[in-house]
Amino acid sequence: MICLLNGIRMNDNNKQIDDAISLQYSSHDRLSEYNRLVYPVVSRRAGGLSLGINVNPDKKCTFNCVYCQVDRSKEIKNLSPDIEQINNELDEWLTVISKNNGSYKGHPLKDISFAGDGEPTTYSQLPQLIENIIEAKKKYHFDQCKIIIFTNGTRIVHPNILKVLPALFANQGEIWFKLDFWDEKSLQQINRPKMSAAKLIEHLTRVGQQFPVVLQSCFFSWNDQVYQDDIYNGYITLVQELIKKGVQLKYIQAYTLARKPSEIDAKPLKDDELDRLCLHLKNELPVQIKKYYEKG
Ligand code: SF4
Repeated sequence: MICLLNGIRMNDNNKQIDDAISLQYSSHDRLSEYNRLVYPVVSRRAGGLSLGINVNPDKKCTFNCVYCQVDRSKEIKNLSPDIEQINNELDEWLTVISKNNGSYKGHPLKDISFAGDGEPTTYSQLPQLIENIIEAKKKYHFDQCKIIIFTNGTRIVHPNILKVLPALFANQGEIWFKLDFWDEKSLQQINRPKMSAAKLIEHLTRVGQQFPVVLQSCFFSWNDQVYQDDIYNGYITLVQELIKKGVQLKYIQAYTLARKPSEIDAKPLKDDELDRLCLHLKNELPVQIKKYYEKG
């Protein structure tokens, strides 16, 4: 049976997907059940509609953050991030959005982002995919639509990725770099990767010296620790050192937990605590701070 979605002929499966989309973060897991790799969400940080591309449907990541909100408790399906499937799904969504004057369900398209269930730079075909998206943006005349890579930095300096970055940044590309730690101890307490803090800082420095990056920093309470500004002095010192080394920072996203974390001892900062922290950051750093509370 064929039905119409916003004037486009869609099959039964797509009709189910359209019904399943609530355009909120909570819809991600449900969409992966439909074996979909490209999905629309209304994102607070995008300020509108974001087309997310999940190149990590197996949920593997090079970090193991205590606050990770990817649900790995259920059986993990062996979903292959097939580049043809991604291209086809992307084309399908961009056709729908294009025929609706750049919107879906009333929300204008702001970005296409690699924001799935793991670390996108582990996907070997990421550079090819970035080039495909640049072409698709041109084809559908979405010139202002951003392309965003969320990364924890472990593999961002792979030569094949570095090669595509000039084209990415020439086409409204942005890198949103995760930075929650400030030294080896905090890295192992928060993100628990195999890579050292020194190496991750080196990666951030190398990319940030060439291109302006956005820092994404998750702040939360651990073990009911009482909030104090001093806790984050090491973070401030690290960011000051990065700036001194010539790292270009577009802005810092200071956010707290909005969904259930993997470790129950991680709890969101209260609104007034995040306010205090952001004021502390603002007083010490010459960078714009954007804050995102637990509930928006
Ligand atoms: S980097 Fe992201 S996906 Fe990976 S463990 Fe941390 S929060 Fe989860």
